[in-house]
Amino acid sequence: MKITMNKKKKLDISLLREKINGIDSNLIKLLADRRKLSKEVIQTKEKLQSPIRDQKREAELLNRLIKIGKKEGLDSHFLSKIFYEVIDDSVRLQQNYVQLKLNSKGEKKRQIKVAIQGIEGSYSFLASQKYFSLQNVDLYFVCKKRFEEVVASVEKGEADLAVLPIENTTSGGINEVYDLFLHTTLSIIGDEKFQVKHCLVANEEISIGKIKKVYAHYQAASQCSKFLETIPNVSIEYFDDTAMSVQKIKEEGNALFAAIASEEAAKLFKLKILKADIANQSENYTRFLVATRKPEKVDPRIPCKTSIIMATSHTPGSLVESLNVFRRYNVNLTKLESRPIIGNPWEEMFYLDFEGNIESELIQKVIDELGQHTRFMKILGSYPSQELAHTKLDYLQILSEPVEKKDDGNSLTEQPAVKKTKPKSYRLASREYKSDDTIIKVKNVEIGGNNFVVIAGPCSVENEEMVMKCALEVKENGAQILRGGCFKPRTSPYSFQGLGMEGLKILTDAGKYYDLPVITEVLDTEHVVEVAKTADILQVGARNMQNFALLKEVGKSHRPIMLKRGLMASIDELLNAAEYILSQGNRQVILCERGIRTFETATRNTLDLSAIPVLKELTHLPVIVDPSHAVGERNKVIPLAKAAKIVGAHGIMVEFHPDPPKALSDPEQALYFSQFEELMREIHRL
Ligand code: PEP
Ligand code: MN
Repeated sequence: MKITMNKKKKLDISLLREKINGIDSNLIKLLADRRKLSKEVIQTKEKLQSPIRDQKREAELLNRLIKIGKKEGLDSHFLSKIFYEVIDDSVRLQQNYVQLKLNSKGEKKRQIKVAIQGIEGSYSFLASQKYFSLQNVDLYFVCKKRFEEVVASVEKGEADLAVLPIENTTSGGINEVYDLFLHTTLSIIGDEKFQVKHCLVANEEISIGKIKKVYAHYQAASQCSKFLETIPNVSIEYFDDTAMSVQKIKEEGNALFAAIASEEAAKLFKLKILKADIANQSENYTRFLVATRKPEKVDPRIPCKTSIIMATSHTPGSLVESLNVFRRYNVNLTKLESRPIIGNPWEEMFYLDFEGNIESELIQKVIDELGQHTRFMKILGSYPSQELAHTKLDYLQILSEPVEKKDDGNSLTEQPAVKKTKPKSYRLASREYKSDDTIIKVKNVEIGGNNFVVIAGPCSVENEEMVMKCALEVKENGAQILRGGCFKPRTSPYSFQGLGMEGLKILTDAGKYYDLPVITEVLDTEHVVEVAKTADILQVGARNMQNFALLKEVGKSHRPIMLKRGLMASIDELLNAAEYILSQGNRQVILCERGIRTFETATRNTLDLSAIPVLKELTHLPVIVDPSHAVGERNKVIPLAKAAKIVGAHGIMVEFHPDPPKALSDPEQALYFSQFEELMREIHRL
């Protein structure tokens, strides 16, 4: 009986799997068909000389797909993730088409010899494959031991192109490659960012504790130092590149030896992966430059970057004068690196990347003016920028039927303010010190200025499942930041105190998964550095607003700080508390009005809405309103959240929970998801 049941289940599963395989094959066919159409579109665009990207059309396309998807039960995060990839692919394909045509390379299959440092399977090899993935080419690799030989091989014509690593997000710039660009005649024609994912690989499956020797590139070993420390009695042997270390263990065939390399290198050499993702930092990227003998032109419709090297004149302030040129012409500088000039101690050569095309009039003017402040300049090349900006989703469209935007709220007419006579005890926080609004950028979210952000999430991080549900709810409704308390300031020492660092891991993992910045509270000076490693914004809670040791400590952090107004604090005291943080060097402070104690006991606290226009007059710092902690009752959160937007707050922070009555902290004020959805619809309409 049991056997037949199992057999039936197996049959059912194989039938289902067959169906899934069929669907997947169809998806591939459809994607290929879509690509073909996309190619036809670019041919028409070429004839009409129309722009390659049409953000309006992209936004309409995404909104339409998300609406269809919702009817089918697919969430917008999932759909937008997939379609961003599809759109990116299409844009890249079209850009490639115009680029090849412009540089008269045609559509015929080309054979390209690429010079790299290292052997097949190395990161340079993988990055080259990625760079050419959309072009119709056969790649042949010219493998060299040293970077210098790679450059020479292209200069001599032995290879067509060089692909060289220039910087890594964990270990920084690769000096040797920077120095080579000073003297070479090659021009940069492209760059490629490649995510480095180190694995421990070996000849056979073996428990990691038994490994006696690890072969690794010295940079790879240092990027995986924490993992290596966990293997007892292991010795490390260094190699020039990661793939070579894999080749070495393959040749030796010793079961007790392992190497650090990519998954692809392990596959190429048919070795076993003992453990994946072993780097200290999970987000680890290397940027590669593609260089060749002849500079290439970039179509003016393609976003473009230019790289140059310069040495400034021997006059005081010449570096500042040079950088000012970029500011005057509003050209965005994306990189500035300095290298000593060999033979001239204490003199520097500057390597700059900026947005713009060397062929454009604007960049010609910049280069011309830069010449007045420099004594040496070399143009390394202009090349298409790899970063494609994603079209933002229109949540008003997604969450509700189109509604006319009301013209009220923020457009209240401003009259000259009555001047306060009392001297201010804070300076850096004041409008007198800085008249423009401070705008704080966290990942892709801007807080301050004319932006309105919604921070939402549970009061406390309770477990992984509930945080993932909350993050999805934030994302699906167009809120931008996920909140969650890991260290909780509780009135009673017997109440739930939070999951601490374990909770922070849950929160940051959810943030990464849904591409949302996260905010969490720090209670203790000792936790600041550790929490700041992964949380995007640190919160100083109301009860700690005048904990000066904590203010000073967060003032040394590189992360933005959200400072909540104390339960009994005046606006002046709040700004002085902010001054503590600012004066330590951290100029990224967000203020939060979260209700104060008054004689009124009908609600948890009293939301001081007048503080918002007052603060906006006194300070340049962004001001957020937390209606949840102010009112303390879920049914009154929506009207106060709306009021906050109307009075000019730069955003709100609200608490919700998948099952509010069961919340481990602040259950009364946690919104039901349905209430949060209503709140977001209402907020988008304002
Ligand atoms: C919180 O935001 O989690 C919190 C505890 O708020 P407050 O410090 O404003 O009470
Ligand atoms: Mn709370």
